[in-house]
Amino acid sequence: MAKESMNTLGTSLSIDISTLYLLAALVAVMLGLLLLFFWRKEKIAALGWWGIAYLMGGSSVALWTLLGPRLPGPAVLALNMIGFVACGMVWTATRVFHGRKPLWAAMAAGALIWLGVAVLGMEYGTLSMLTGAAVIAVYGGLTASELWRERRKTMRGRGPAVLVPVLHGVVLMLPIVLGELMQSSMQGLDSRSGWVIAFAIELVLYAVGTVFIIFMLMAERVLTAHKRAASVDPLTGLLNRRGFAEATARMSEREARAERSVTVMIFDLDHFKSVNDRFGHFVGDDVLKLFASVLSSNLRITDLVGRVGGEEFAAMLPCSLDEGLIAAERVRQAYAECGARVEDVNLETTVSVGLAGGAAGLPLDVLLASADSALYRAKRAGRNRCEVVRDEMLSLERVPRILSPSLAVRKATPLEVPAGAGDASE
Ligand code: GH3
Ligand code: MG
Ligand code: MG
Repeated sequence: MAKESMNTLGTSLSIDISTLYLLAALVAVMLGLLLLFFWRKEKIAALGWWGIAYLMGGSSVALWTLLGPRLPGPAVLALNMIGFVACGMVWTATRVFHGRKPLWAAMAAGALIWLGVAVLGMEYGTLSMLTGAAVIAVYGGLTASELWRERRKTMRGRGPAVLVPVLHGVVLMLPIVLGELMQSSMQGLDSRSGWVIAFAIELVLYAVGTVFIIFMLMAERVLTAHKRAASVDPLTGLLNRRGFAEATARMSEREARAERSVTVMIFDLDHFKSVNDRFGHFVGDDVLKLFASVLSSNLRITDLVGRVGGEEFAAMLPCSLDEGLIAAERVRQAYAECGARVEDVNLETTVSVGLAGGAAGLPLDVLLASADSALYRAKRAGRNRCEVVRDEMLSLERVPRILSPSLAVRKATPLEVPAGAGDASE
């Protein structure tokens, strides 16, 4: 095996290029095994794709490095092909991770195109090397664009995740190209060039960097899942009270900056307890799901809706109270006319709605408490209607406060215990 001195780095540093490539390959194989271990443990398909891609890429570079000059032609072609397919698989893994299907033909296309050039061109030098480099660059670019497409759905920036495959693609870090170059360097061509060594170092960094990215993506996914579970109501799929409070705070802040108004509404299903009493809790749950779907399908995608209590729902709309009232009326009417039946009994589904609105930036507590008082009026006026509190009536005084226990004790009138009560022993 050829031993190269890296004179550009000084006389004291001597690097064996073959050893460097072998090291890169072994790191890739080791990481592949690690990924496969996590794939078995976590049952995440993308980890399996990544793991096998690493094993294939690593093995092809290792075999090339160890046996390159002694390998027969077809074996050389096969090793190259394995390397290219591995690159396609890294891209496929990223697709699978984001819930998309593998594109088998596209995954194999790079290897086949290279094979065509190498065989049909009867040439195994510069052109096939350039084709190989282009194939790697394209797969690197595809992987990066896959990550880039998903960036809006995640909480953190995807900058580093996108940068690594882009750099890899741009710098053409191709195990096979490296192999080609190494072969050339062994033949004495370009033997002192530092970039052959730089490529090998980049290969190790790429292999390790990509695994970091994979684990970063996994951590991000787990975090998103936990955050989602904590803010979504599992029965209806709408935001729960906590999720609704967080999302409305953001909307309120945004609308306040633009000096626009918001409308808050609370929906309370009418006589819902009697549904449970007559048909049982399961039917009650189905009615809640039915209302949730009526609610979301009659509001805009930009409106926020949540389930804030047992049979109470809330919404915040970035609009004036009058526009909000039109939307609330639409929901009320759609629910009243949805015609839900159980065993030929018409459920007579109706809902009462309380609305409050005003300049965005008012505390959510104030808006909700005001909407609640409007809801109370709707119930008292006979249900199946919308009632409104206009912004001039909004005030903090509407928000009921719980007295602290010490105050409550001091303010409470002493209990009057009837004579004889508590003297059970007598
Ligand atoms: P009103 O018209 O005055 O609102 O009458 P109502 O019967 O709807 O009001 P009430 O508050 O008395 O009853 C609410 C009922 O909602 C009581 C409770 O059993 C039921 N409920 C709360 N959460 C759930 C749930 O998750 N599933 C089911 N099936 N019922 C629920
Ligand atoms: Mg209620
Ligand atoms: Mg109710």
